Amino acid sequence: MEILQGKSVFGGIAIGKICVYQKEEQQVKRSKVDDVDKEIQRFREAKDLAITQLGQLYDKAVKEVGESSAAIFEIHQMMLEDLDYVESIENIIKTQSVNAEFAVAETSDNFQMIFASMDDEYMRGRAADVKDVSERLLTILHGNHKDALHTAEPVIIAADDLAPSETVQLDKEKVLAFVTIHGSTNSHTAILAKTMNIPALIGVDIDLKAVDGKMAVVDGYEGRIYIEPDEGVLAEKQAKLQEDIEKRNLLQTLKGRENVTLDGQKIMLYANIGDIKDLGMVMQNDAGGIGLFRSEFIYLDKETFPTEEEQFKVYKTVAETMAGKRVIIRTLDIGADKQADYFNLGKEDNPAMGYRAIRICLTQPEIFKTQLRAIFRASAYGKIAIMYPMITSVEEVLKIKEIVAEVKEELTFQKIAFGEVEQGIMIETPAAVMISDLLAKEVDFFSIGTNDLTQYTLAIDRQNDKLDDFYNPHHKAVLRMIAKVVENSHKEGIWTGICGELGADPELTKLFLAMGVDELSVSPGRILGLRKIILETNMENCREEILAQYL
Ligand code: PEP
Ligand code: MG
Repeated sequence: MEILQGKSVFGGIAIGKICVYQKEEQQVKRSKVDDVDKEIQRFREAKDLAITQLGQLYDKAVKEVGESSAAIFEIHQMMLEDLDYVESIENIIKTQSVNAEFAVAETSDNFQMIFASMDDEYMRGRAADVKDVSERLLTILHGNHKDALHTAEPVIIAADDLAPSETVQLDKEKVLAFVTIHGSTNSHTAILAKTMNIPALIGVDIDLKAVDGKMAVVDGYEGRIYIEPDEGVLAEKQAKLQEDIEKRNLLQTLKGRENVTLDGQKIMLYANIGDIKDLGMVMQNDAGGIGLFRSEFIYLDKETFPTEEEQFKVYKTVAETMAGKRVIIRTLDIGADKQADYFNLGKEDNPAMGYRAIRICLTQPEIFKTQLRAIFRASAYGKIAIMYPMITSVEEVLKIKEIVAEVKEELTFQKIAFGEVEQGIMIETPAAVMISDLLAKEVDFFSIGTNDLTQYTLAIDRQNDKLDDFYNPHHKAVLRMIAKVVENSHKEGIWTGICGELGADPELTKLFLAMGVDELSVSPGRILGLRKIILETNMENCREEILAQYL
């Protein structure tokens, strides 16, 4: 048995086999080959296997997300059959007597460059597809035939690090836990683990070459992984897992209850989601609504811009499923750690403070309008609200309002139905906090994004794992900001929620109640635990004391 210590992102116990997830970024070396025919044959076999894999992916995607979203895998299959692409690879192998990997990488670079420089937007988007199919070929040529994203049995995923775009593609039913060597506790990958309600460890010094397929226990409470656990440990952890299941079942008895303290203070408990697949957890945990739908995951899960129709279907499904409960869709918050190749965002020195979120939407209004049209159309099917990320000024809000007015006008002109849609903003920059009195006059609600607010206030890059020890989630600077925002919103008669991870911190629930926070939006699995705390709390005569203690 080997025991490794890491940092825990989310508690819980997982018992199962380890599956090592290899990055698709491939190092390609140019090497000479003697037998070019054999090399061409190697390439052709890899191509056939890639086409088969894509066919399987297509079938899976049709079932999970529908035909239109699955079509991308068919396009990739066609690309692999494309004569220009295939001939280029075979020609490089033949004329330069080089390995197939090099020929694929060279062709991929050339084709990407050609597509990227085309005038037509659709063709430019194909550059990302060439990259994707070529990487699949390289994975196969490198002898890594296993597609770790699609394992047959539920597994513990071990990886060097995981990007949000990789995590989002994992089949959630098949993932018992995450264990990574790198990554920060505040990253989006960590947040996804919480939404999935599974244990996750980061900073684990695990030998990825040695652990694939081995049995292990992940203990998210201790932050440890036990590889090939002995019988004693296994029995102990199985008992703990059983205890967890019983506790969870007990919390289920709180379903249907109001979130109200013993002295009558009410608070809304909503769920954060990134995918329609999270809706099951939302129902199971009795969320009062959806307080944060991270819509950018629709974009991350794709190879090119999702169409209005595709987005509309997703938002409509969420609105209908929530059956009249409020669904707050956060508009595209792409950039920083959430990258999709087809946005061509380019490298930046400070991506967290760079070209991201609302800044992209305001400078590329066609992308923004497509999303807004989809959201407004879906609002005819439920109670949808919109909120905008990374706001720093009143001018941005006014500009957004102008664009929203145009979208509504167009829809009205086209006789397309839409409902009443509340407009809110995320308060996640210190600038927004400082002018929250002014912003409150322009919108219907605030939702405080404590993940970014903490990053910008404490100057701690949430992606940087070296800074985890400097990160104090209870820093007075952040807590005072929250209090200020709540106060300013109430003065203007609007409500404030918290949708960052701090909202789920059970140590702070009383403080948030004392501040008068109106809503907490948390990972679905945290809702009933918070409800229990609220139901057992009496805020009478202790408000001032609690505020003084934390602020
Ligand atoms: C936040 O910043 O707190 C937030 C909820 O948004 P995200 O974590 O997606 O940046
Ligand atoms: Mg944020």
